[in-house]
Amino acid sequence: MKDNTCQKVVDKIPLYLDGEMPENEIPIFLEHVQYCSKCMTKFASEQTFKEVVRERCERKCISSHLADSIKNRISMLLARS
Ligand SMILES: [Zn+2]
Repeated sequence: MKDNTCQKVVDKIPLYLDGEMPENEIPIFLEHVQYCSKCMTKFASEQTFKEVVRERCERKCISSHLADSIKNRISMLLARS
């Protein structure tokens, strides 16, 4: 994973959290966050992600499998810190 990609993803976290990310970018964003622990940590520290992920899942039909994976990873990260 190039740092450049991570920077772009981190820059978009507020966009995602505000619900202003274009729908076609959401799966790309979430997939990167899911597999990149650096961005996941950043994402997790940004806010009340669990509710956000759940709401997005219901509203925008992100695959619930992906949403669950993300929630699990966030839980693991929080349990560790
Ligand atoms: Zn990353």
